[in-house]
Amino acid sequence: MKPFTGNFTQQEPLDDAVIAAATGILRSGRLHRYNSAPGELSKASELEQAYAAYQGARYCLACASGGYAMAIALRAAGLGQGEAVLTNAFTLAPVPGAIAAAGGKPLLVEITEDLVIDLEDLDRKAKTSGARFLLLSNMRGHLADMERLTDIVRQNNLILIEDCAHTMGAAWNGRKSGSFGLAGCFSTQTYKHLNSGEGGLLTSDDPEFVARAIILSGSYMLYERHGAAPPADVFERIRLETPNMSGRMDNLRAAILLPQLARLEDSIERWNDRYRAVEQALAGAEGVALPRRPEAERYVGSSIQFRLPGLSAALAEAFVAANKALGVELKWFGAADPVAFTSNHRSWRYVDPQLLPETDRILSSLFDMRLPLTFSVEDCRHIGAIIAHCAAELGAHA
Ligand SMILES: *Cc1c(COP(=O)(O)O)cnc(C)c1O
Repeated sequence: MKPFTGNFTQQEPLDDAVIAAATGILRSGRLHRYNSAPGELSKASELEQAYAAYQGARYCLACASGGYAMAIALRAAGLGQGEAVLTNAFTLAPVPGAIAAAGGKPLLVEITEDLVIDLEDLDRKAKTSGARFLLLSNMRGHLADMERLTDIVRQNNLILIEDCAHTMGAAWNGRKSGSFGLAGCFSTQTYKHLNSGEGGLLTSDDPEFVARAIILSGSYMLYERHGAAPPADVFERIRLETPNMSGRMDNLRAAILLPQLARLEDSIERWNDRYRAVEQALAGAEGVALPRRPEAERYVGSSIQFRLPGLSAALAEAFVAANKALGVELKWFGAADPVAFTSNHRSWRYVDPQLLPETDRILSSLFDMRLPLTFSVEDCRHIGAIIAHCAAELGAHA
């Protein structure tokens, strides 16, 4: 088997339109979002307008990171100190981190083999805990049945905030991920769907919630300069009772995001071509189980996950090593100690320990891989063939 030599963390270079946008802002010297010339709409405000339009939301706030967007969303939604926040147990560390930052306590919900929140466990835990908040993490881009989920949200009077770090551009039955509850939180960190190094976007249709979030983000009393914000009278009611928790986006990052947003739909098609190439190679592979991708889901295949059910820890490690020897970097979610990223609930020791047998069983055989757009579709076929080969070898030795 010929090894693969591509780099799994190398994103695409930013093109001339992005470089020109960055240069324009650098030449102006007006990098701070409120440092606008008379009559000028800042790049941060322009980005808020463009993203609100893309998302189909009334309002948008650009801020420092996806994690920051989630933390201020919880605060703006009225989370009290020590209050429980339901969230799926399979997610990335910034999610429980945002709950902790907002003063809440994560109450973890099981996942299913399709890697989405277990709706029965959600309903049960909502009822028994009386929790008021659900921070739904659309982890690795997998969407739950959003109609059933919103029914459960409604029946239990939950306030739904969506973590869309991996579902920017995704939809369920034509409705954009991030538009099913009070707010959607997005990340523009390098490994997500738009790249400004760091950055976050928060969308909502609720005027008072957004006014609070804007003041929280550190707007001082300059909120009237925002691009997709509610009218000034909404701020009047809350402006002096809302703390400033500085986490603004600057004009340089906004400027480089605007041209990338304009071709996001094209990027999504390219990701999905790559996803399908790997998926096809794995579909018939020995012992490999792929998560189901429902008809209703429009996904963004910027990463791929699969399971090797029934695998021991020793064999899982051997499988990762065999792939690595052939140049394929897999992440295994069952590792006892977190490597690079933490996404296993056992490594969040500031969270009360919780029993999640289903999630543990699923994560113990779950593998994950990024699909940067620097890979060609042919590269993805090659990668898929390597994984299938390593899975077959494992079968031969098991
Ligand atoms: C990256 C990520 C975030 C947070 O994004 P940052 O911008 O890095 O704070 C949130 N949720 C998930 C699932 C992520 O992968």
